[in-house]
Formats: sequence, structure tokens, C-alpha cells
Amino acid sequence: MAQYVLAIDQGTTSTRAIVFNHAGEIVDSGQLEHEQIFPKAGWVEHDPMEIWRNTREVVGLALTRANITSTDLVAVGITNQRETTVVWDKNTGEPVYNAVVWQDTRTQKIADELAGDEGAEKYKAICGLPLATYFSGPKVKWILDNVEGARAKAEAGDLLFGNTDSWLIWNMTGGTEGGVHVTDVTNASRTMLMNLDSLTWNADIAGDMGIPLSMLPEIKSSSEVYGEGRAKGMVPGIPIAGILGDQQAATFGQACFEVGMAKNTYGTGNFMLINTGEEIVPSENGLLTTLAYKIGDNKPIYALEGSIAVTGSLIQWLRDNLGMISSAPEVEEVAKSVEDNGGAYFVPAFSGLFAPYWRGDARGVLVGLTRFVNKGHIARAALEATAFQTREVLDAMNADSGVDLTELKVDGGMIANELLMQFQADILGVPVVRPKVAETTALGAAYAAGIAVGFWSGEQDVIDNWAEGQRWEPSMDADERERTYRLWKKAVTKSFDWVD
Ligand code: ADP
Repeated sequence: MAQYVLAIDQGTTSTRAIVFNHAGEIVDSGQLEHEQIFPKAGWVEHDPMEIWRNTREVVGLALTRANITSTDLVAVGITNQRETTVVWDKNTGEPVYNAVVWQDTRTQKIADELAGDEGAEKYKAICGLPLATYFSGPKVKWILDNVEGARAKAEAGDLLFGNTDSWLIWNMTGGTEGGVHVTDVTNASRTMLMNLDSLTWNADIAGDMGIPLSMLPEIKSSSEVYGEGRAKGMVPGIPIAGILGDQQAATFGQACFEVGMAKNTYGTGNFMLINTGEEIVPSENGLLTTLAYKIGDNKPIYALEGSIAVTGSLIQWLRDNLGMISSAPEVEEVAKSVEDNGGAYFVPAFSGLFAPYWRGDARGVLVGLTRFVNKGHIARAALEATAFQTREVLDAMNADSGVDLTELKVDGGMIANELLMQFQADILGVPVVRPKVAETTALGAAYAAGIAVGFWSGEQDVIDNWAEGQRWEPSMDADERERTYRLWKKAVTKSFDWVD
């Protein structure tokens, strides 16, 4: 009888469940979007209960559509939006506040205060990350400081923290009735609270942020059995055996197992990761040092990451806030109605700028406007923003690693956009390649879980299953590439210093 692995991909805009077969192919899937809650400018929240409900529903949908039952599954793997912070009461199972999402900028003041005279890189040597609104630690501090009664409960040991991986697994494994409270090294490496070398919580940083250690999940590898499904209707008795943060899962699913191999994911934001092997490489160029994965008892593998906050979400913004298009894919037709950007550059610094700038004071700007510029040029400028930001991150990676990348593996929702992919190859000057199975995030989590239970033997199976789907070759001449990139760089400087 055929056996399968289920991956749950708890993303920023939606939750997906995907059934994979032994060849690493998608059998079927279910997907539900959840509400994006924007209570104030710069704030972004999700309802953790909605996410948990949606997870149960999409798992049911995926199994039904694949025409299988949970008994046909050998393991379940989880991948998730990283940094997004849930704090809940372990006695009631109720979150004390909405999930504070990775894009949320409310913690700027906390980050600045923590930085003090020592600056934003105060903890970088320990955790690989600069103080910024992006990471979980300051978000936990905000919740404990601002939700009535939360700090007292946390100190009494009643509250638990997790990214959405921990939240889902705790619920799936029984919740208030014995749910396991775990995370993996990749998620833990996004909190600012983990020592990169020992893979343990750092009591000093947690102390500075006023976070009791009792709130923190146990740090596990990315591929081992954490527990079994116990919640009603949720894969009863099936081992939950893989956890990888979404970007690390995509790196794994793209088979980037050798030092120097990199992938770039184009979703709500963009995230490029390059494998640095067993070495912890500090960045001199605005990248993050992070965990790539750890398979069971094997040594941990590290990565450098370039995180870009706003790429696909700029297209959503054109759709939802301006009504310029009625669906995300439509942006391509609108952009194709013109030859080029008409001189317009759009720097979408909606959450400040992440890599390589880390400027919390930046805000979005649209520059180079003349009476000539129309909707098509703006659509093009919005798409080009993704490609330019990616070029900046790639340049930083080349500088940090001392080796120039010769091609870029890509995945994520935006790669459906041919115009963007061609422009990306043009602006990088290297080929851009997508795999046949573009759902690499879910695939990576499935592999991590399947490897833990022996369904796949290890990384070699992932390599054997990876197949090229499409390739875009650069065709822009070098002078034009550098001219337009120089204008982009100039546009970026106009986004700085917009916060009082
Ligand atoms: P996530 O996992 O971050 O939720 P996905 O990988 O599902 O994101 O990608 C969705 C993002 O891609 C959305 O922000 C959407 O605006 C963008 N997107 C989807 N299709 C297209 C397209 N054809 N052209 C440009 N952007 C697109």
C-alpha cells in the first residue's frame, strides 16, 4: 500500500496542507487564507485560533482530495512563517493576544532601547541577528509589557511562547492535555534568544528582554519525532517528525546541501539563503547568520540570509489598497503594456528596510515621476523593486562569501510572473532556475519529517528527486543593467529618515 507524508505550511497569508508521495510529487492539497489584521499603521496581526482552525480544515481537505485517510501517512512535517509570535495560556489554551507578525514594526522603540549605546549589533555575535522589529524576542517583550496581567502570568509559569510551528504542534499533540511545547533550531534562530553555537537559550538576552525561560519551547533538531497527533480529527497516532522555518524548508526542498548553494523565495517578502555548512559565518554586509537545518543527531548546518520585507505584498497592496489590479497575476499584463519603467522607481519600505540596510526609519517612496508615467510603468516599477532588492542581497552574499553565485534557484508565488523572472535574470546577470515542484517550502518540511521516520534515507533522496522546471537566461546589456541599478540605489536613499 502506498504511503505518504503530509506537510503543513503555515504561511503569512495562508495555511496549506500538501500530501507528497515517495517521489516527492504533490498528490493533492488544501489551502485557506487567514485574515490580515492591521490595527494601526505598521502593526500586523493574525488570529492564532483562526490559524489553528484553518490548519485542521486544510488537513481534512488535503486528505479527502488525495483520497486517502490519515492512516496512509507515515509522518507529518511542519513549516511556518518565522518570527511571528504567539503567547498563550497553557491552562486554557487561549492566546493572550493576537499573533504579532514578523512584518509588524511596533517594537522599534523596544529595539532601540535594548540597543542603547552599544548599537543594533549588540547581540549579533551570539545570535547572528541585529536588533530590529523583525525578530520574536522583542515581540514577546511587547506582549508581556502591554497585555494586562500577562507578565504576572508569565512569571508564574502559566504562559507559553512559540512561533506558529510551536503553537500548532502544541495543539496537535493534545493542547491543555499534554501538548508538547517544542520548536526546531531554525525557528529558534529567529528569536534573538538562541546561542548560535550551543543551540540553547541565552539566559542573559532573555533576561534583558524580561522573558522568563519557562515560556520558551524546547529546542529540537529539524528532523525527529516530537510527538504524535492527538487532537480530534488531526492525524491521530501519526508522528509529527519535521519542523523547519519556511525559508529553511525551501532551502532544504531545493536541495541546497553544499556550501555555496543558494535559493531565493519570492512570497510576501523575499528570502535568499546560502548554505555555509558547519561554519557560523558572521556577515559584514547586512545579512543574517542563521540555522539552515539540523537532521537528528547530525551536526547543525548554518546559512547566511538576506531577508527582504516587501516583495509580493507590494503587489497585494496595488490590488487591495489602490485597486489598480483585481488579482496579483494581473500585474504582469499591466506591466507588459509598457516597454520599461518610464523612469519610475518604487522602494516599498513599508516595514522599514531589511537586508542589507536594516533601516527602521525608512518608508516607501515612488520616485522619478513625470507626466509621462502611467499605470503600466508603476506596475513595472513594483515588479522591478523585487528584482532590484534581490540584486542588493546577492551582491551582499557574494561579498560575504567571497565567491560569486553562478545561478540562482528560485521558488514562491511570484515566480509565476515571467516578466519578473526575465528581469531578475537580466538584473543579476546570472541564470534564474526554478524546479519542477515549485512548492519547495512544503516539500522541505515533508522531507525533514520523512527522513526522521526512514521513509526517505536522507539528503541524497532529495537531490535525486530535484528536477529543473524552467530557466531564464540574462539578456540585458551590461551598461543598461548598471544604469538602471544605479538609479534604483539612488531611489533607496530617498526612502531613509521618514520616521519622526
Ligand atoms: P507566502 O508563502 O509568503 O504567503 P506565496 O509564496 O504564496 O506567499 O506568494 C504569494 C505572493 O506572491 C503574494 O504576495 C502575491 O501578491 C504574489 N503573487 C502571486 N502571483 C503573482 C504574480 N503572477 N505576479 C506577481 N506577484 C504574484
